[in-house]
Amino acid sequence: MDDKYIIDRVPVRKTFGQYTKLSADGSFWWGNCPLCKEEDNSFLVSTINKQFYCYACKASGNAIDFLVQLNSISSTAARQELINTWGIHVPCEPGEVLNDLAKKFGPVLKKLAKT
Ligand SMILES: [Zn+2]
Repeated sequence: MDDKYIIDRVPVRKTFGQYTKLSADGSFWWGNCPLCKEEDNSFLVSTINKQFYCYACKASGNAIDFLVQLNSISSTAARQELINTWGIHVPCEPGEVLNDLAKKFGPVLKKLAKT
């Protein structure tokens, strides 16, 4: 699963809106930056490319990058937080499915091989 899969499914304005009050300006939203706590509406969120940029502290990126910087967490934790918050359906990786099958049927196959 890549970041884009998650970002595509995250409601951008609502995600950033949890941390700062955003005002609409076309497809852009402006607010005070939750990262550097400035109060000049330097925080820009684009609903088109789903990125943020702060003109004060120059922080930028997507919702995952934002949570990493805001909460000092790993990108894995940030991804998981977005998945949980927005109930994003995460498809199983093909490798995981095979591993599950091997775990389930491995012992049975071993038994069969012995008989
Ligand atoms: Zn900032």
